[in-house]
Amino acid sequence: MLFSATCFTSNAQELPKVFGRTVKSVNPENGQIRCASAEYEEYQQEHNSKKDTRAQFENWLAKKIQERKAQRSTANVAEVITIPVVVHVIHNGDALGVNENIPDGQVQSQIEVLNQDYRRMAGTNGYNSLAVGADVEIEFCLAQTDPDGNLTNGIDRIRRTSATYNSIEIFDSSVKPATSWDPEQYMNIWTCSFGGSSSGLLGYAQFPDSSGLGGLDEIGGNEGTDGVVIGYQYFGSEDIFPEGNYGSDSNQNRYGRTATHEVGHFLGLRHIWGDNDDCRVNTTDSFKDYCPDTPAASEEHYNCQTYNSCPTAPGNDMKENYMDYTNDLCLNIFTQNQKTRIRTVMENSPRRASLVTSTACQAPTGGVNKYKLQGLKVFPNPAQGELTIDIPNGDLPDSYTIYNSVGQTVSTAKINSNANLTINTGNYSNGVYFIKVNKGSESKTLKFIKN
Ligand SMILES: [Zn+2]
Repeated sequence: MLFSATCFTSNAQELPKVFGRTVKSVNPENGQIRCASAEYEEYQQEHNSKKDTRAQFENWLAKKIQERKAQRSTANVAEVITIPVVVHVIHNGDALGVNENIPDGQVQSQIEVLNQDYRRMAGTNGYNSLAVGADVEIEFCLAQTDPDGNLTNGIDRIRRTSATYNSIEIFDSSVKPATSWDPEQYMNIWTCSFGGSSSGLLGYAQFPDSSGLGGLDEIGGNEGTDGVVIGYQYFGSEDIFPEGNYGSDSNQNRYGRTATHEVGHFLGLRHIWGDNDDCRVNTTDSFKDYCPDTPAASEEHYNCQTYNSCPTAPGNDMKENYMDYTNDLCLNIFTQNQKTRIRTVMENSPRRASLVTSTACQAPTGGVNKYKLQGLKVFPNPAQGELTIDIPNGDLPDSYTIYNSVGQTVSTAKINSNANLTINTGNYSNGVYFIKVNKGSESKTLKFIKN
């Protein structure tokens, strides 16, 4: 073994840093960092004054859970929510299917695992027969309509010069906001290759926000980073798609449960040991995971043997819970209390409640031409000489007309070939213009500046 246990003792000096914080725990067998969501939450609170503290969020959620119980006491409505997903595959130019440019089948296998786990699907690894086990009644689908209204398979391949991000802070602050799809309509997942001090990391997620005392205006600055990030080797399931690019790690995290865990954080769940070693239990909590039906635990686990880290509290540690650090093949349960948290977040939290009514999993409607025009752009803007109409899908429009800022026609032309997409604005005076592009009965008007 390359890694011996002595490489990863509990000595804090030897633990890696992620988001400027020493991680709380690494897998003693191989040094892997199972999750950095708790560290990321602290980092976000430090860098964004509008991100609520853990206490603020938990006070808000506890109140919402009480309200929900009161409303639902007579009718327990069961309804399946489907969350549209976009997976941004970040790579450095590898051929499709090679290294971090993971194949479509690997992405699709991950969606399948999420559905097995969040539906407690019989006959799959996501099934358990415990009374406390919950069908969370949430399903996931790869988006079929992108933010421009175009047809998509929900997999957004993004080429960057670097495949490996030695600074996770730079990945978080630059790659995520530049590639995110509207987080009101999509759950954004990024796959990438973690590097530097984060090279042992499997994944991290952004916790939901409360709606804030002042409503949605109180929330700001977190939109572009909202979502889940997973190391590509831990994304998807070898069971379902054996041809994928999985890690050869000894802990068998090749079955898609890193995403199940991180999506759990995205939907408001805490680690079952509450990120502390306290064993106190009351009617609403088994200390800081806010779920009394997950027995009190004072530490995380990496192996599937039986543990009882809180012998004074009832029950063994629930090492099969998706919100522990156990390896993928051990995990198979979300509890009823965890489901209540998730459902309450889905009903009330910004950028979670809006996912419930998103139509991004339906194919575009209204005709192909319209949607091709909706993806249309002009560049450069501002323009100095040539202005180019950019047609993402290569489908030529019929014509265009350019207007000045007071609505006078400056130029109009038919588009018969790609050459007609480049317009010489050299003799236009400086100022604001509008270009109206037509195709069939559809049109799209864009503003540009000449200077
Ligand atoms: Zn976690």
